[in-house]
Amino acid sequence: MMEDDPLYRRRRLRLVETLREKGIQDERVLEAIARVPRHLFVEPALRLRAYDDVALPIGLKQTISQPFTVAYQTQLLEVQPGDRVLEIGTGSGYQAAILCALGARVFTIERHRPLLERALARLEALGYRVVARHGDGSQGWPAFAPFDGIVVTAGATEIPPALCAQLRMPEGNRPGGRLVIPVGNAHQQRMTRVRCTGPGTYETETMHVFRFVPLIRENDETNS
Ligand code: SAM
Repeated sequence: MMEDDPLYRRRRLRLVETLREKGIQDERVLEAIARVPRHLFVEPALRLRAYDDVALPIGLKQTISQPFTVAYQTQLLEVQPGDRVLEIGTGSGYQAAILCALGARVFTIERHRPLLERALARLEALGYRVVARHGDGSQGWPAFAPFDGIVVTAGATEIPPALCAQLRMPEGNRPGGRLVIPVGNAHQQRMTRVRCTGPGTYETETMHVFRFVPLIRENDETNS
């Protein structure tokens, strides 16, 4: 386990209070944020800003999402211990660590190999185990489906039907799998939750507006 400094721990607890004031209510999500050392998911020069509620650069024009965004998406996922959760856009590895702290079995995909390698090194050093793959995650990971949760951490222009098809169906009292995905244009996206309600049937809810880096598909012309 990497070192955790009391200074950072104090800042982390202040961040939890900020998130609570901004409307995050799920105590399990807040506890996970209180446990995971976000400062170890950014470059050393940015560590003192790690507990400000802001997105920070992680290289290759990508960012570690704002803590509020991570908390908001995680709350919408309704993660239960043992749930199988697919994350698309590993980035720094921080969101994956939060999902592990909630007891999920985490599968994660990142299209930038150097980011994935750095994220996996951090996660391993902290004792978080994930199943990871380098590549385009926009079509999910059918080999490991169905998932109880799928979280897309980059902005999509539409809901990929392939991701809906990889959500677990409802079983008895257990609700179906949830896809949490920001959907919109290059400037802003609306957080969207799709819940599987039966074979090929889904319920969609749209929520607040966010701004994410784009979800890039393999055949997109932009390749940054
Ligand atoms: N979850 C990340 C974290 O906790 O640091 C935040 C990630 S950042 C906002 C979005 C990430 O999605 C970037 O690292 C980007 O390279 C990745 N990405 C974009 N399109 C992708 C795709 N089609 N497949 C996999 N990763 C993708």
